[in-house]
Amino acid sequence: MAKIADLLAAGPTFSFEFFPPRSDDAERLLEKTLQELEALQPSFVSVTYGAGGTTRERTREIVTHINRDTSMTAMPHLTCVAHTCADINDIVTGYRDEGFENILALGGDPPALSDAEPEPEGDFEYALELVELVRSIGDFSIGVAAHPELHPRSKKDRQLDRDHLATKLRAADFGVTQFFFRADDYLSMVDDLAARGVDKPVVPGIMPVTNAKQVQRFAQMSGAEFPPDLAARLEAVAEHPEEVRRIGVEVATELCADLLDAGAPGLHFYTLNRSTATREIYANLGLGPKS
Ligand SMILES: Cc1cc2nc3c(=O)[nH]c(=O)nc-3n(C[C@H](O)[C@H](O)[C@H](O)COP(=O)(O)OP(=O)(O)OC[C@H]3O[C@@H](n4cnc5c(N)ncnc54)[C@H](O)[C@@H]3O)c2cc1C
Repeated sequence: MAKIADLLAAGPTFSFEFFPPRSDDAERLLEKTLQELEALQPSFVSVTYGAGGTTRERTREIVTHINRDTSMTAMPHLTCVAHTCADINDIVTGYRDEGFENILALGGDPPALSDAEPEPEGDFEYALELVELVRSIGDFSIGVAAHPELHPRSKKDRQLDRDHLATKLRAADFGVTQFFFRADDYLSMVDDLAARGVDKPVVPGIMPVTNAKQVQRFAQMSGAEFPPDLAARLEAVAEHPEEVRRIGVEVATELCADLLDAGAPGLHFYTLNRSTATREIYANLGLGPKS
């Protein structure tokens, strides 16, 4: 295993994100994807955590499997909202004792509750509190989430959202962004952070569009704007899934090349547990495995 802050210092890094599968078929697909993407020798990979702890055991099992049975370094995501300090202590101490060196520390979203359901017990409001607790438990390289187009709950106050991000990054070692489609959104976030004296590496998150409707839904949830010109291009070929994929890969390749040219410290691919689009973008960028 390796500390991601060290990998970034030697950068650029290339990394892939997975989520815990929910069925046997999905589990087999993830296993196949892991094998296919291992061949690209990523700098690290990460595995998401269900908000409120819904994948607590699954996330740990998958990162443990990747670290033990493959050549890849796996970083668990962890969210803190709706968790007690005791929960988080248990989880993070477990990771430390198993030799994990990296954690992506997130706020997470509060569960959607019906009127009848009680608020879950929880000691945390913001990701920064998790960063501080993780720091006190072990010698981890700690990553945090960054939202180039602002967090959906902070759209009204750009300066304040950037202030919170700057404070969080000062306490952490690196950031990984929500996906976005315009390099300028990422670059203006980096400028906003520099104006606040923060130069911690923030790795752009890349979501290749292979299914326009699905990505438009994700974009709505995450506060990213789906550019109207891209939507129109995809709409024109909506009946031809292969053409949608081809355009999605082409657009993502251009975005990746622009970001690397502009000095981004790496690229983090949201794979959705599939390998093809990521492998194609890798090939287009001439990135192949390290020799
Ligand atoms: C790379 C990446 C990976 C992710 N992985 C997961 C995952 O595995 N599981 C999952 O459930 N979700 C995941 N998310 C989504 C994330 O949990 C949500 O976006 C969540 O709503 C906020 O998380 P955060 O870490 O950005 O929170 P925070 O940093 O806590 O920010 C949340 C909001 O609070 C505001 N804020 C921060 N500090 C303060 C303060 N002191 N006072 C007032 N307001 C403040 C911020 O401006 C922002 O609007 C991921 C997001 C990204 C970008």
